[in-house]
Amino acid sequence: MEKILVLAAVEADGTLGRPALEALAAAKELGGAVTLGLWGADVKKAADSVSGGGAGRILGVSGPDFAEARYGSDAAAAEALAKASGAALVLAPGTSRLARVLPGVAHRLGGRADTHVTGLQSGPDGIAASRGYYRQRIESTISRSARPWVISLEPGARPPMEAAPGTAAVEAVAVTLPEGARRTKVEGFRSPAGGGQTIRPDARLLFVAGAGWCKKQSSGQVRTAEAEQLIKAFLEKAQASLGSSKSLVDQKGEGQSVISFLTHLNQVGQTGSTPRHPKGLATCCHGEEPHVVGWRFIPQRRVVNLDANCGWAKGKADVVYVADAFEVMAKVNAMLS
Ligand SMILES: Cc1cc2nc3c(=O)[nH]c(=O)nc-3n(C[C@H](O)[C@H](O)[C@H](O)COP(=O)(O)OP(=O)(O)OC[C@H]3O[C@@H](n4cnc5c(N)ncnc54)[C@H](O)[C@@H]3O)c2cc1C
Repeated sequence: MEKILVLAAVEADGTLGRPALEALAAAKELGGAVTLGLWGADVKKAADSVSGGGAGRILGVSGPDFAEARYGSDAAAAEALAKASGAALVLAPGTSRLARVLPGVAHRLGGRADTHVTGLQSGPDGIAASRGYYRQRIESTISRSARPWVISLEPGARPPMEAAPGTAAVEAVAVTLPEGARRTKVEGFRSPAGGGQTIRPDARLLFVAGAGWCKKQSSGQVRTAEAEQLIKAFLEKAQASLGSSKSLVDQKGEGQSVISFLTHLNQVGQTGSTPRHPKGLATCCHGEEPHVVGWRFIPQRRVVNLDANCGWAKGKADVVYVADAFEVMAKVNAMLS
């Protein structure tokens, strides 16, 4: 079996994120010796969190220079860890932080990179990786002879490893940052105008808002301000991720009354995203195929729609509540309070 390295940057609180635990689980499933390579301000807490239960070798790059997401220092740390491990297969979570550096790291190592991988198999012909193409309509399985093979794993595509805490013996790897690597400084985070973070890839629930929220209701009036307040309150209480239909996000460009904190980044569907959450709740959304195709990885689906004949009712949802979403969400919010 080939030597495997799992690379991860530790989170701001010093822990390992769920995508890193998913990558570790994928590596362990392949079998063989697994080395964990971590970097951050201090990697000890993250290393301890997974060092029980027969953890393999743990390498670490620590220091204030490695705390923040920055190409220069992240790539240098990943490169040094990969070289110190001598691994042929380098697995890493496909988070935005690592996705930025992994192809560059593969180039520095003289290897190859593949991204958005959703599954790994070990067979008689070696290791094979699968991923989707054309918005996940085609799944292909690839293998490569080039080594090291750097693979970023799509977060949410598999269950994480159960963390088994212990006391880690971290082998420190020294990295001298090249001239200019400290040039970029993270000064803070900015959210889109009108609202805080609404896209939460790790959320248990995807809440989808459809165009119905901004349409004239039975009173003859649009109730956008109320819709906005109901949706915001629910997202905060349930810590759900917010998705939208295309019709709703498109309304902004048409100068209509809109939900202020929605952007095209929230759009789910054929021309939007295909998020991965265990559960989904669609409200005021008709359930047309170009939208529902983005729900492919959402196994449990519920819907609130006034129309008993909406698209969801045609075998696309597990439960359709034929009801007014304004009333339902007001009640749900009250129950969550
Ligand atoms: C090439 C192409 C690509 C596309 N890509 C995407 C895509 O990526 N994502 C996407 O979403 N769409 C996409 N579409 C558009 C898609 O076909 C639909 O037009 C869109 O999803 C409809 O959005 P909607 O369901 O929010 O709005 P509508 O079809 O207007 O439905 C609104 C729903 O709200 C319900 N409603 C109204 N008031 C209430 C209430 N008080 N309580 C409960 N229910 C209520 C109504 O009964 C209705 O079913 C694409 C279309 C094309 C042609």
